[in-house]
Amino acid sequence: MDSINTLKLLTSQMSFEADGEPPALPSPAPACFSPKERDQAFTHPAQLPNGQKILLLKTLLSSVCERDCFYCPFRTGRDFRRATFKPDEFAVLFAKLSAAKMAEGLFLSSGVVGGGTRTQDKILATAELLRQKYQYRGYIHLKIMPGAEKDQVYRAMQLADRVSVNLEAPNTERLAKLAPHKIFLEELLQPLKWVDEFRKTIPAYKFWNGRAPSTVTQFVAGGSDESDLELLSATNWLNKNVSLKRAYFSAFHPIMDTPFENKPATNPMREHRLYQASFLLRDYGFDLEDLPFANDSNLPLHADPKQAWAQMYLIDKPIEINKAEKRELIRIPGIGLKGAEAILLARRTSRLRDLSALKKLGIVAERAAPYLLFDGRRTAKQIELW
Ligand code: SF4
Repeated sequence: MDSINTLKLLTSQMSFEADGEPPALPSPAPACFSPKERDQAFTHPAQLPNGQKILLLKTLLSSVCERDCFYCPFRTGRDFRRATFKPDEFAVLFAKLSAAKMAEGLFLSSGVVGGGTRTQDKILATAELLRQKYQYRGYIHLKIMPGAEKDQVYRAMQLADRVSVNLEAPNTERLAKLAPHKIFLEELLQPLKWVDEFRKTIPAYKFWNGRAPSTVTQFVAGGSDESDLELLSATNWLNKNVSLKRAYFSAFHPIMDTPFENKPATNPMREHRLYQASFLLRDYGFDLEDLPFANDSNLPLHADPKQAWAQMYLIDKPIEINKAEKRELIRIPGIGLKGAEAILLARRTSRLRDLSALKKLGIVAERAAPYLLFDGRRTAKQIELW
C-alpha cells in the first residue's frame, strides 16, 4: 500500500476521536465550513479554542493494537484491514500535505504496539521530524499513550500545542468494565498529573511556541454503565486539579465483532447534555450540587441543565437585570459569558428597560425573560409565561 492509501485508511478509522470545539448538538461536521472545505481529502474541519478554523488531519500512526479494550474497533484479534506508518514516512507525507495547504493541523494517535513507551517514542519521533526537519509551525495535538513515561510526556509537551490522555471511564471500577488491561491511576491519570506539574514548573520558553500545551481527555459516555454524576465528578476534579482544558464525551456506539457489539448505543442527546453541564462547571461557576441530577444520578435528557436549575431556583426569585453581578447574570438561561459582559457594559450608560434592550445586546431574551426583573418589574412576556 502506498503512503496516500495508508493515510486514507488510517484517517477513515479515526473518526471517533475529538478535537476542537464540540458541536452544539451532536452532528458530523460544523456548519461553519463550506462544502468544499468539508470535502478536502483526509482532513476534518476543526475550530481551535482561540476561534481559528483549520483543516485538521486526524490520524493514527498505526491501527495495529495489542490491547483488548471491549468497545474499541482496533482491539487485538479483531479482523479488519490494518495499516502502519513509520515516523519518517508519515512526516514527509504530512509535510507535503501541509505545504499544499491540504492540512493545517495534525492530531496524531496510535494503537499500542510493543508497549506504551515504544509507541510513544514513535509518536514523538514523528513530531520531532515535523518540527525540526520540516520546520512545521502549525497545530499539533499528540496523544499520550497508556504507560508512557514521564520524560516522554515532557517531550510531547515541548512539541505539541495540545496533548491528551483518554481516560475513557470516570474511575478505576468503571474502566475495568471497558478496558480490562488499562490501569486508571498509573497509566492514565498519572500522565495528566505530570502534564499539570510541567505546566506549573517549566518556564514557558521551553515549549515550542513559548506556551505550555493545553490538555484534554475523552470519555466513552455510556460505555461502562456509568452515571452522568460519575462522569461530571471526574470532569470537575480534572478541571480543578490538573487544569483540564476540556473533557470530550463520545456517546458509545457498538462495534461489530467486539464484546460490546450487542450493547445498546448511547442516546446522542446524553452527549450534548454532558457538554452543557461540563461548561456550567468549568465556565459558569456551577458546582456539582447545582446540576439537576435525577434519582438515577443522570441528567434529564429533555432539559437543558441550566434551564432546569433556573426553573428550580430563579423562577420564584427573579434576578434584577440592572443590579446583578456577572456571576448571577451568567446563571440566567439565554445569557452567556459574552452576553453578561455586554449587559455590564450597557449598564454603564443606561438602564435596561425591557426585553428589546437585551435583544439588541444579542441575548436570547425570550429564554431569559422568566427569570428577570427590570427595575423591580416583570416584563409583559414574563407575566404571560407566569
Ligand atoms: S489501547 Fe486504544 S487503540 Fe488499543 S484497543 Fe484500547 S482504546 Fe483501542
